[in-house]
Amino acid sequence: MEFDIIIKNGTLITLEGGIKSGKDINLGIKENWDIGIRNGKIEVVAPGIKDSARKIISANGKIVTPGFIDPHTHLIFAGNRVDEFGMRLKGASYMEIREKGGGIKKTVQNTKNASSEELYQSAKQRIETMLKWGVTTVEIKSGYGLELGTEMKMLNVVKKLKEEGYNVIPTFLGAHDIPEGWKKDTYIEHILSVMMPEIAGKKLAAFCDVFCEKDVFNPNDAMRILQRGKAYGLIPKIHADEITSSGGAEVSGEVQAISAEHLIYPSDNGLKMMAENGVIAVLLPGTSFFLNESIPPIEKFRNHNIPIAIGSDFNPGSSPIISLPLIMGIAAIKYKLYPEEIIAGVTINAAYALNIQDKKGSIETGKDADLLILKYKDYREILYWLGENPVEKEMLGGRIK
Ligand SMILES: [Zn+2]
Repeated sequence: MEFDIIIKNGTLITLEGGIKSGKDINLGIKENWDIGIRNGKIEVVAPGIKDSARKIISANGKIVTPGFIDPHTHLIFAGNRVDEFGMRLKGASYMEIREKGGGIKKTVQNTKNASSEELYQSAKQRIETMLKWGVTTVEIKSGYGLELGTEMKMLNVVKKLKEEGYNVIPTFLGAHDIPEGWKKDTYIEHILSVMMPEIAGKKLAAFCDVFCEKDVFNPNDAMRILQRGKAYGLIPKIHADEITSSGGAEVSGEVQAISAEHLIYPSDNGLKMMAENGVIAVLLPGTSFFLNESIPPIEKFRNHNIPIAIGSDFNPGSSPIISLPLIMGIAAIKYKLYPEEIIAGVTINAAYALNIQDKKGSIETGKDADLLILKYKDYREILYWLGENPVEKEMLGGRIK
């Protein structure tokens, strides 16, 4: 049997055996093992593969991981928010910034004004940069349109990127904010009766998400939107308990969301409901760092055996940090997550949070050959050399990038 590629003598971080949770995560490390790859898939994972291959890559004992998966981004947008950043550095509050026309409303306006081509070009460039930092799959949310045309424009950019071979996964986040000049209930009705049928009908999204927060969408609104999304085949996700304890974790349990995200102030009951309903916690340490926010109750997630995934939340307002490895370092230092939790959080657990666990997130037979050979022999170095790019070589679907 001839393989297309064999990676030899790697320290494989396989992440075998499904989703990870609890205090003691086993990364499934195999020292000095090989990977046989054919037709873009991982076919054999074993020590000392003897078969021939068209190409042999020697890892020389370096770490080999599945490609990183970023389960939460807002990477399609136009313009930036550097003015607001400057104001914030000089002490302005978020409300003051909003009054001066900053905040999400500015990005909504810029994104509305941008052409599809402009959005496509900038998104493609960002995905290429993420790839260089080891991210081989990216979730992308809409939500800077807040009206059908622009939401569709954003989701069509994701579709185009997917057609070009990028691993991108679209989430409909029409309920990201209440658009200027609209009453909340009228807008929710518009989401349910106009936007959702169109977007689900054209299969432009896999997930439906809601920004559940004080003064935006309350738990009842979120339930209504996510339930309807479910009826349209969109799997629920939720921005929950980021700024206040707003009942988002409870909603995620009740609606049986695949994931709840941010979770800085989840209630104890919310955590219990998440655990009972198998909801994954998607944590976003880059945002907490960039905004100097508090951190989630990590020990409680461990005690409840709630699986943790980690995303960049890449967006122009609260996390313009494109390097997921840097965010992994921040997860260690600011969130005090264990190295094993962080690695599982950007691989197998992130795959589960995106419902792609059958294809991605671990080094196991039958999975896509999205793989990274890192510069290091000890996986903790990914966190330790904070700010350095850990990637030596990357492979996307069996092709070396
Ligand atoms: Zn977000």
